[in-house]
Amino acid sequence: MYLSKLFIPILKENPSEAKIKSHQLMLRVGMIKQSSAGIYSWLPLGLKIMKKIENIVREEQNKIGAQELLMPTIQSADIWKESGRYNDYGEEMLRIKDRQGREMLYGPTNEELITEIFRASVKSYKSLPQSLYHIQWKFRDELRPRFGVMRCREFLMKDAYTFDLSDEDAVKSYNKMFFAYLKTFKRLGLTAIPMAADTGPIGGNLSHEFIILAETGESKIYADKRIFEVNTENFKLNDESLNEMRKKFDLYYAVTDEKFNKEDFDKKVIKNNHLITKGIEVGHIFYFGDKYSKPLNAFVDLQGGKKVAVKMGSYGIGVSRLVAAIIEAKFNNNVMKWPLSVAPYETVIIPMIKKNDNSNLKKAENLYKELKKNNIDVLLDDSDESLSAKLKKFELMGIPYQVIVGEKSKEDLFEFKEIDKESENLTIAKIVNKVISEKKRIDL
Ligand code: ATP
Ligand code: MG
Repeated sequence: MYLSKLFIPILKENPSEAKIKSHQLMLRVGMIKQSSAGIYSWLPLGLKIMKKIENIVREEQNKIGAQELLMPTIQSADIWKESGRYNDYGEEMLRIKDRQGREMLYGPTNEELITEIFRASVKSYKSLPQSLYHIQWKFRDELRPRFGVMRCREFLMKDAYTFDLSDEDAVKSYNKMFFAYLKTFKRLGLTAIPMAADTGPIGGNLSHEFIILAETGESKIYADKRIFEVNTENFKLNDESLNEMRKKFDLYYAVTDEKFNKEDFDKKVIKNNHLITKGIEVGHIFYFGDKYSKPLNAFVDLQGGKKVAVKMGSYGIGVSRLVAAIIEAKFNNNVMKWPLSVAPYETVIIPMIKKNDNSNLKKAENLYKELKKNNIDVLLDDSDESLSAKLKKFELMGIPYQVIVGEKSKEDLFEFKEIDKESENLTIAKIVNKVISEKKRIDL
């Protein structure tokens, strides 16, 4: 893509309405535009990043055998009345009436709808377990939408639901999701720590929020520092290994606000080896047994004919929130660096263009074609801004590799710079090699 063709409305100054850096940056480089309070349009650059995130989320769900479907955004109020949540959900739910006066709503989550789909078609224990997910827009009429897409009203979520016959089987499904979440966040370049979360009246300890440490986060956490050192490299996708993995994490105290208990904390955390700080919740997994299957009549037949309510769990990832969360984690001193796995472009070529001399532009176009040929997602800055203005712009856009076509281009050498690192003069072949080998390394 040539920069001159790209729809990217960059602002000169930081927008004053934005309080946190991710919100500022997303507006500044034209990733999003607010359309009304807490509701955003995603512009090409922002959408491209979000799609890449969405794809990684999808791939990791598929790897553990979850199956993708797509439920609608608009739901009937009837099933919510069946579960008893229509009243309980309160003002966060956007309620609508259709022309026949039927009560509808814009889904804030999908436990009811997925249970209804399940109960209509699955009758026997033989069809279990099942794991289904979709990636769909949600609407929650948040009291105080703020921080851009971090806490907005319309947002993209991956939500998965598992159906099992017994508590033991359900734990296995839960562990698989736990594993998929660790993999997903790692591929996004994030360290997201599973923290035990409140399970409310259901009880038990099967609820975790995946949290990224950030001062601007809205979740308060209390953790034993050793949880950050749990090595997750060697776990495999089988029940035994996943059980081990869970045990490793369970060794250390790490909880969110609602679950905090001073007595437990004092007992379990070694003195002065703790962290009380804030974080951003990017995912939440939750086992709730038959909370919805019972009222919604999702029963299956056992071998002897006895009926049992299926055991369910639900598993969310804030796909659109992740765009902002990655910025919060990676934007430092006005310099952004997207992880290569989700970068809007993998490389940008910046020719130094002199008056009446387009030789550098020609060389840049050549280089562009070569990178394209090698499947590298590349941007060419064909604008006539000064080099320093260009560099400043790309510091904000956070494209991981920059190639400056300048003085040395006569010798067919180009200045290759990875953000945060020293630059070096390289040939086209070497540049292609570098980017490709890094992509291979991170499995792109
Ligand atoms: P929070 O505590 O942040 O309000 P939640 O516990 O209500 O979130 P869940 O129902 O667990 O959220 O939703 C799953 C995921 O969806 C969350 O982990 C978060 O990443 C994302 N999410 C929830 N609410 C919002 C929102 N208003 N804006 C953007 N993303 C959100
Ligand atoms: Mg939550």
